[in-house]
Amino acid sequence: MVHSSNEPLLIAGGGIGGLATALAVARTGRAVHVLEKASRFGEIGAGLQLAPNASHALARLGVLDAIEPHAVYPRRITWRDARSGKRVTTLDLGERFRARFAHRYVVMHRGDLLDVLLAGCRADERIVLEPSQEVVDVEDRGAGVRVVCAGGATYDGTAAVAADGLWSRLRSLVHPDGDPVAARYVAYRGTVPVGELWEGVGLEDVTLWTAPGLHFVQYPIRGGELFNQVAVFRSDRYRAGGDDWGTPDELDAAFAVGCDAVQAGIARIRRDRHWPMYDREPIAQWSRGRLALLGDAAHPMLQYLAQGACQALEDAVVLADALAAHDDPAAAFTAYRDQRYLRTARVQYSARLFGEIWHVGDVGATLRDAMLATRADDDFAHIEWLYGWRP
Ligand SMILES: Cc1cc2nc3c(=O)[nH]c(=O)nc-3n(C[C@H](O)[C@H](O)[C@H](O)COP(=O)(O)OP(=O)(O)OC[C@H]3O[C@@H](n4cnc5c(N)ncnc54)[C@H](O)[C@@H]3O)c2cc1C
Repeated sequence: MVHSSNEPLLIAGGGIGGLATALAVARTGRAVHVLEKASRFGEIGAGLQLAPNASHALARLGVLDAIEPHAVYPRRITWRDARSGKRVTTLDLGERFRARFAHRYVVMHRGDLLDVLLAGCRADERIVLEPSQEVVDVEDRGAGVRVVCAGGATYDGTAAVAADGLWSRLRSLVHPDGDPVAARYVAYRGTVPVGELWEGVGLEDVTLWTAPGLHFVQYPIRGGELFNQVAVFRSDRYRAGGDDWGTPDELDAAFAVGCDAVQAGIARIRRDRHWPMYDREPIAQWSRGRLALLGDAAHPMLQYLAQGACQALEDAVVLADALAAHDDPAAAFTAYRDQRYLRTARVQYSARLFGEIWHVGDVGATLRDAMLATRADDDFAHIEWLYGWRP
């Protein structure tokens, strides 16, 4: 079946990156067609932290106001030792932070963000959203592309964007580098209704608890109705290709070192599903002809800087600007790559480094804590390069 088309930009994947790109590109006057593998557009998982760089991108997409009812604006990020409960350091997210970065730090339900992006797409007649279409191939036809889906449907467009996530199938058409790199860490995540919380929970903070080989993150979401928790630990049973590692009994054994506050949270975390952690080495090849990579398909990263979605939002804005500035999509994709690849490579490498700093033990941990003890809460120097981004 060949679908008639007015030569839209074709986007494979309707996650945060794909929908943000659809909105950004449609705002420049182009038709966009999003093909999503799942039977409905939606997000699994719970909380999402959005730093000011993401808010700048959301403002450009015209949806920053729409996230306000769903957002929580924490007062600080507090890092504590998971065993002793002692404070390691604090990042103040109050007025000085806002004055510096122009936006507040946001935490929210990732489903709420996707719903806001979806509503924006549905309100734009230039955007067609089509679920239940798994893209399996993109053929470069010189003056355009033909996208092929698993059921045999084909779509013609001016160019294509692969926003198909960490396990991107289309990435191999641009840069075949095999499977993502396993970090040997696994995450458990879930939410607790705020009415069911135990005593002593910090509802004004993002709290990060760390100990050797593990960390635990907590913060409120959905306008303060839900409490989000993410527990991450290194599995000694990791086996490449196996799915029998990072099990709930390992979770309990790893977090047995935790102080009472950590134990209380771990007791309420969901155990029915877990997420092995992966990233990839940064690459410089982001496009081939009229096909470009975006979001996790281009630069999957460990979540330790809470930047994967933020970077996908930045990608969306830059890609739309590049397409608006160049008649030739292939040239636009090269310009987009030029603006993005060193920045996202830095985030990918820095996320790995942050993980090492959080998870270090022995003398390394003592040295880290001693160095951080003298840091001022409103010292933003180390995040300037990251949160200070502007479209
Ligand atoms: C535990 C954890 C915590 C995180 N916390 C944060 C955080 O606090 N802040 C932050 O910024 N980031 C965070 N991230 C990272 C963030 O979730 C990702 O970077 C982000 O979701 C990437 O968006 P994406 O659209 O590129 O990919 P995805 O969200 O993976 O979306 C890809 C979409 O493509 C679809 N798809 C896949 N293959 C095909 C195909 N062949 N054809 C059509 N459709 C297809 C999928 O169904 C999916 O809808 C976290 C990640 C994890 C694992």
